[in-house]
Formats: sequence, C-alpha cells, structure tokens
Amino acid sequence: MKSTPVLVLVLVLLVVSDLHTEDEPLVIDDIAYDNEQDRNADQCTSRGCMWGKSSDGKVYVPYVIASHYSSRERSIIERGLQSFTDVSCIRFIRRSNQRDYLSIQSHNGCYSYVGRRGYAQTLSLDRRGCLYHSTVQHELLHALGFNHEQCRSDRDQHIRILWENIQSGLEYAFDKLNTLNLNTPYDYNSVMQYHRYAFSGNNKPTMVPIPNANVEFGTASQMSSNDISRLNRLYKC
Ligand SMILES: [Zn+2]
Repeated sequence: MKSTPVLVLVLVLLVVSDLHTEDEPLVIDDIAYDNEQDRNADQCTSRGCMWGKSSDGKVYVPYVIASHYSSRERSIIERGLQSFTDVSCIRFIRRSNQRDYLSIQSHNGCYSYVGRRGYAQTLSLDRRGCLYHSTVQHELLHALGFNHEQCRSDRDQHIRILWENIQSGLEYAFDKLNTLNLNTPYDYNSVMQYHRYAFSGNNKPTMVPIPNANVEFGTASQMSSNDISRLNRLYKC
C-alpha cells in the first residue's frame, strides 16, 4: 500500500455528509483531498490533472465499478458514464490495463478527487444516497477537473454566502477558488451548484442568489448546457 501514493489517502478526507431526499439530491461537500493545497482545479489542470487525449481526439477515462453494486445500481452508474458520450469527447471505458483509472466504489458518501490523480483513484458513490443521475455526473465532473459552482472565482457577483448559517467547521466548502471559468457564465442550474441549504447548521440558507434572492438554484437533475460547454472547452473537444 505504501508505495502507491494514491492509496495513501491521508484522509483528512474532507468528505461528504450527503443529505439526499427522494426527489432532490442534496450533495454536501464531496471533494476528496490528499492535502490542503489541492483544492484549486486551476492549479490542478496546470499541473497536469487532465485526462489525456488520444490521437483520435477522444479522451478515454478508464473505470472499474466495484462488484458490490446490484445490477440496478450499476446501471444508474453506467447511464451516468454513458451520458458524456453524446455531448463531449469524453469516453469512459472499462479499464483493461491502463495505469490511471477511476475506481468507483460505495464508500461512506459521494465524493471524488478533482482531476486525474494517477493510478487508481477512488470515486465514491454510496449505495445509500448517491445513486442519482445528477450525482453520478457531478462526481465524474470532479474527476474530470471541475470544482463546485459556488466556489467559482466570480461567484460573489452571483451568490452571497451566509457564513453565519454554515455548520461550524465546514466553511471551507464555500472557499472561493481561482477557477478556470472558460468563458462560461455562472450557472445556477449547473450540476456542480450546491443547494440553498447545503451545509446549513441552523436550517437557514447558506447561499442566496444575487440580485434576486428568490431565484431557484442547485436543483439540477442533469448537466446543464454550461456544464457541457465548459467540459468541451477544457478538453478542447
Ligand atoms: Zn461535489
């Protein structure tokens, strides 16, 4: 175990507590980090955390799905993997002998690293609460190098963080990042946008939209057109 860096998940794993309701998956913080410096997708993409492009212009991302899922659960995951095919050059493929790949497993919560880490990287889709199409897409977008919408560098023009309502100790989930926004607008309907009450410690909102506080956000059931444009731009599909 020691020799494979990825497995040494120095897990301060700032992971999840996923609070899903039946109709509305509510993804709480779900990014896995090896250390505190790894939170910025921008740094990560310049350090080479993107998945490589093949000579045919496709970006093949190998995966393995753990055998502990039922066939119904597996089909939800596979539908999520497949959903990238029609809208981008990303192709999730079953791993044969590739070095770097996603190891999709049911752990405690829904979480992923941001970008390619090298070797096997865990992407957790908990059987209890993560098997929604939007959640599968969300975690896969993390693995492809994307951060949360509310962490975007320009978020202060679109969303106000109500720090006083955030559960104590979880404020980091709302840290603003120096993200690459790829000329796409801030998108309330992004599958990477958290819900109004995400991480609330007092049942009050943790975010309100600007300027109209009543606009709905964070309820996407699938990738938005902006999520798709961003992906295509990052990977030059
Ligand atoms: Zn996330």
